[in-house]
Amino acid sequence: MKTLYVKFIVITIGMMFISFILAFIISNTYYQQKLKPFNDQKNTKVALDIAAFAEQHPEINLHEYLKSISAVGYQMCLVKLGGDRTFFGKPFRDKSMPISTQEYVLKGNVFHGMLHFPQETFVTGFFSNELKNTIGVPLKYQGRTYALFIRPDIKFLFNEMHILFGWILGLAITLTIVMVLINTKYLVKPISNLTKATKSLANGDFTVKLDSKRHDELGELSHSFLWMASKLEQIDEMRKEFISNISHDIQSPLSNIKGYTNLLENESISNEERSHYVSIINGEIRRLSTLTKQLLLLASLDRNEDIIKKKLFNVGGQLKELIRNYQWAVNEKGIMLSYSLPNIEMVGDPSLLNTVWDNLLSNAIKYNKPNGSIEISLDKKGDSVFITFADTGIGMKNTEVERIFERFYRADMARTRTVEGPVGLSIVKTIVDLHGGTINVRSKENEGTAFMVELPIR
Ligand code: ADP
Repeated sequence: MKTLYVKFIVITIGMMFISFILAFIISNTYYQQKLKPFNDQKNTKVALDIAAFAEQHPEINLHEYLKSISAVGYQMCLVKLGGDRTFFGKPFRDKSMPISTQEYVLKGNVFHGMLHFPQETFVTGFFSNELKNTIGVPLKYQGRTYALFIRPDIKFLFNEMHILFGWILGLAITLTIVMVLINTKYLVKPISNLTKATKSLANGDFTVKLDSKRHDELGELSHSFLWMASKLEQIDEMRKEFISNISHDIQSPLSNIKGYTNLLENESISNEERSHYVSIINGEIRRLSTLTKQLLLLASLDRNEDIIKKKLFNVGGQLKELIRNYQWAVNEKGIMLSYSLPNIEMVGDPSLLNTVWDNLLSNAIKYNKPNGSIEISLDKKGDSVFITFADTGIGMKNTEVERIFERFYRADMARTRTVEGPVGLSIVKTIVDLHGGTINVRSKENEGTAFMVELPIR
């Protein structure tokens, strides 16, 4: 596996290399355009000065004179008219020089070897220790004509600088590479930590620890990761809670059914008792059936939104019909039910919305107190319909209100033992959401609860 660490280092060093080449090309262009002519000019002046001094002072010894100049950092070649060559200073690596050039200078012309030294040799041409890479000037001494070829002894002049720059460059490159190695480790480490955390999360360990105090993208990522871990933990908790709730919801009717079928097996019971037991068993079967139907509905609502089939219908009429079906339960609990339900038409899925009203009304009855009351109202404002179910029941704590729309949440296991389906309100919320509406709750413990639904008319 190519790690990020290795990639980062390879890229950085690659970039250094490319920058080096670019810098070389740019400085070479500068050398060819500006420095080379300037260098040629400067050395031409030096050569002419040397020649002029020799011409004006015939009393000096020419060879001694040139020797002493070469000692301060010049390489020279003195050509006599016949072609005899004498060298001064450090020897040239390449001493070749066309005869024509020598004659050209002997005739009194200046030879600009530095300026015309091949272009392809880049900056390094400057260092090329060749006789062709010189300035040639004519020199008159004691009436005789010579040609003097001269170039600075680069090695002599720049040796220490050379070493110094070499060291600076070498050190800079080494230090950069070392720093990149260390820095990259520092940058990549949080990512490796994240990978470890991901693995432990996948194994169900939610207690991951990450450094989320960094103020950069990685810190942000760690932060989001921790947030995701806590959400996943919550979901995992809910899943466990769901399994325990569902098992309980399935188990209790099953054990009731089992108990009553055992009783039915006893042949000595009266017909009256028998039919009572059968009706209890039927009730329990109904409970189980409602539970599975609700679970299936929720699953299909989750899977696709196409499940809703909207049409124009009368909500007021639908609510009145529902109340009629619940009248017996209301009467049985001695609850006062009042309503104001004008005929209002809206577009929606009547069957799904009926499930919403059904849940809200059955909860209002279920969680009511003896002799309590329920008030249902329907209203139209602007483009919305407002439906409210208010009861004077047991109410809820604030902490409960926050969670009731969560799937499988149940405020208090003990108090809802005879209830069908732990998923009612989450179905309600899903259906209202699918219709583009909202649902709100206002509740006070021991005083009552009101559910307010707002739905778009169309
Ligand atoms: P279920 O009623 O089957 O437990 P729901 O999803 O319908 O499931 O309701 C979730 C929880 O919300 C209930 O367990 C109950 O604690 C609370 N709740 C719902 N409606 C009311 C209400 N009208 N009054 C008080 N508590 C309510």
